[in-house]
Formats: sequence, structure tokens, C-alpha cells
Amino acid sequence: MTSMPDTPFREEAHDRRRLLMERSRPGRTGVTLPASDVPPQLMPEQAMLRDDLQLPEVTEGEVVRYFTHLSQLNFSIDTNFYPLGSCTMKYNPKLNEAVAATPGFALAHPAQPEAQVQGCLEAIFTLQTYLQEVSGLPSASLAPLAGAQGELAGILTLRAALDARGDGHRRKMLIPDTAHGTNPASAAMAGFQVISIPSTSGGDIDLDAVRAEAGDDLAGVMFTQPTTLGLFDRNAIEMCRVVHEAGGLVYGDGANMNALLGRAKLGHFGFDVVHMNLHKTFSTPHGGGGPGAGPICVTEVLAPFLPGPIVVRRDDGSYGSEMPAQSIGRCGASQGNFGVLIRALTYISLLGGEGMLNISGNAVLNANYLLAKLRSLFELPYDRSVMHEVVFAARKRAGATALNVSKRLLDHGFHAPTMYFPLVVPEALMIEPTETESKETLDAFIETLERIDAEAAADEEFLRGAPYETPISRLDEARAARRPELRWRPAEE
Ligand SMILES: *Cc1c(COP(=O)(O)O)cnc(C)c1O
Repeated sequence: MTSMPDTPFREEAHDRRRLLMERSRPGRTGVTLPASDVPPQLMPEQAMLRDDLQLPEVTEGEVVRYFTHLSQLNFSIDTNFYPLGSCTMKYNPKLNEAVAATPGFALAHPAQPEAQVQGCLEAIFTLQTYLQEVSGLPSASLAPLAGAQGELAGILTLRAALDARGDGHRRKMLIPDTAHGTNPASAAMAGFQVISIPSTSGGDIDLDAVRAEAGDDLAGVMFTQPTTLGLFDRNAIEMCRVVHEAGGLVYGDGANMNALLGRAKLGHFGFDVVHMNLHKTFSTPHGGGGPGAGPICVTEVLAPFLPGPIVVRRDDGSYGSEMPAQSIGRCGASQGNFGVLIRALTYISLLGGEGMLNISGNAVLNANYLLAKLRSLFELPYDRSVMHEVVFAARKRAGATALNVSKRLLDHGFHAPTMYFPLVVPEALMIEPTETESKETLDAFIETLERIDAEAAADEEFLRGAPYETPISRLDEARAARRPELRWRPAEE
């Protein structure tokens, strides 16, 4: 730790870090309760969990300061640049929040009669049609509550379609070695046998490896376009053709559509099922575990198997919701994560077709700007222009591993990029700037990485100690995950 001058500011900072229990003083209180007019009742002895309970004795003001300070330790897209590859941390317009909070949406109850919630159903129906348009596929279900759940629902839909046409024996699911970890997990949960397919040295799926597996036991392939290397896979159309010819179906992971919006539709490549993450591409907030939404879109052949409910427009112009004829079932209660759906609908309606084109144009431009400016600092395992994100290998300088560079970025107020993923790139740094960042922000990020590179050049050890400025420095990550210390304990007497 670099030594800090003992200024009043540091003292104050120290004070702000004191735990609530450490602020406790006997007799201090945060509330004033009126005298009780209920006679006191003694608790039965056996109902007591413990002999005593130490609670902090603090004033209301101290509690507010304590929790406000804690909330300020949160890192978020509303406070800083968040270039987390594959996760698309783009700015979420506040208008989305305002519309989702409209009482007609926010207070609607899922058990209300359809006649009372026509507006809500129309909103869902409209989003269904928008997502069909984006994916180029004719049917959609907004039921899945996250990307990974969309994958599972999509792959179960695919399996139901295979079963229904007497192809239940097909169990082999091909998955490229670059895939997001949820892909093999979803396929395995749906009962498929996962077969890993290598990528070519150019970063595309290896067609010969696909052809070698294309027999009558082939169920299909789970494929991400653009790939998690941030590349446009040039073999995608041919891969779809090979898999279809062998009788299989194609699952498309469209979690991140930022690069393709308004320009290319996954359905046109030949994908049969596609899931999209509204909480990535369509600017609804995420991080910290949810909620999200992972709608799926499918071909006409697969539509009868979709998870429900699905909103339909009846002949008289009214809206209702129905379960598809041979539905795989529900993904959760009622109509998906409704508030998330409303945010995405607001965002798409606000930007329109022209806006979708600007998203993809600027997302790709920003990623390629970073590629051009940072390629002198890192290795570029696939040297071609990228889509919405760029994957480098931090292998040019000793001490400047992907982990150490990421930790040092925290000192400069940037969130770390995704590290060590995709697995096929050693020391991977996966950077996704998104379209919502300005050139000034990107330049500040580039300058910071240049400074970090210079620090590593001057002193191999320096980065190993980073971060130096954050409230907590480097953790023993295995211990922090397995034996987290989440409880305050009184000091041993
Ligand atoms: C984020 C992501 C997922 C999983 O989505 P969750 O909402 O986190 O479950 C799947 N595939 C890809 C390519 C992703 O980036």
C-alpha cells in the first residue's frame, strides 16, 4: 500500500468506514416511540432464540450517513464507464424508468381480468412484434426471465419440436468452444449431449468439425452471432445449411444484438430459435442478479411449442393471452418480468428504426476505435475488424496480466473488462465500450491503459499489488467466495 499523508480528509474517510456496531454508544437512539398502551406480555421462555442481542445504539442521522456511504461504494453505469464485454453495460435512459413506473403498468395485477388490462397486454403484444422484427422470426414468447432461462426455454422448445416429429433420438448438441458457459449448461439441462466444436485460426466455427458430426443423431447446434470473440462468424450461413441438411435445428444465442440491430436478422441466417437479452441490448438495468428478460423468437414450425403465456390480438381487436397448443409450459408466474418488458418497449419506441441503426453503427465504431488504439499494448489474437466488442490477450508485458491490469483499472475509476473469457484466448481482456460512450470517455480509458502499461514497464511488481485506492484492496478470492465474513462479531474480551 502506498503511504498516504495523515490529513484530516483521510481521518474523515476512516471515520466513514466504521461499521455501524463500532459507532454504537450506550443510550443513543434513532427513534422516539409513543408510550405503549398495550400491557407488556412476557415471551414464553422456549420462544427465546438467544439470551441477549447486541444491536447498535445510534442516532437516525448516523444510520442515514452509514447506509448512504455504503450506497456510494456501488459501481454502476450511472456513475462510470463499465466496459464489461459480453454483458453490454450501456446507459439506460431514465425515460424507461418513468414509463415503467406509470401506475397503469406498475400497479396492474397479473390476476386482473383481461378486459381491465388491455393496455398492458397491448404493450406486450407490441414488444412481441418488435422482437420478431429484430430477429426476423415470426413468433415470440416474452416469458423467460433471464438470458440463461431463455436459452433453456429455447432449447426445450427445440427439443419438443424434434420429439414431435419423431426425432427424439437426436441428442447431440454442437457448441463452439467460444460459447458463453450458459450454452452447454442449458443444453445439458435439456438432456442433450454436448459436443464442443473448435474455432478456426481465423475465429470462425470449424465447418469440417460440424460436418463430421452431422449424422442422424444430430439434434442441432447452439451458436452465438456475433461470436463471443466479438467477431462476425463468416461460416454461420453455411453451418446452418449443414445442420439443417442433416435434420438438426439451429439455436441462436442473441444475448447481445448491439452489433446487428437494424442491419442483419438472425432468422435470415437460418436460425430456428433465438433468445435476446432485453437487459443487454435493450437498455434495461442489470447487474447484481436481476431482474432481466430473455425472450425467445422462433420459426413457424417451432411456434406451437413456445413457453407461454403469449399475448394474441383477437379478431375484434382486443388482446388476450394464451398457452400455445403444445407448449413446453411456463417459465414463471404470469407475464414474464413485466417492468423489464415495458422498459425495453419504451427504449425501442423512443429510438425507432433509425435509432436501431445508430446503436449498431456506433457500438461497432466504438469497439473498432478501441481495437485500433489499444493494439500496441496487447496482443490481438484474431486480427480483423470486430463487431460490438474486442478481445485482446494481455501477454505483452510481464506483470501486466489480464487480472493485474483489471485490478489497476479500478484505481482509476473504471470497471474492469471481462477477463479470462472466452476460454480459447489466454489472458483474455474482453472490452465492450457500447454505443452510449463518448469519444472523450474512450480516450480517457485508452490513456489510462497506456499509463498502466508504462507502470508495468517501469516495475514488474507494481501491478501485482493493485488496486491501491479502493476501499478494499486485493482479496483472497477463493476465501471471499467460500468463507465470506458477512457478520459483525464483538471483539474477543
Ligand atoms: C449474458 C449472456 C448470456 C446469459 O444471460 P443472463 O441473463 O446472464 O442469464 C448468454 N449468452 C451470452 C452470449 C451472454 O452474453
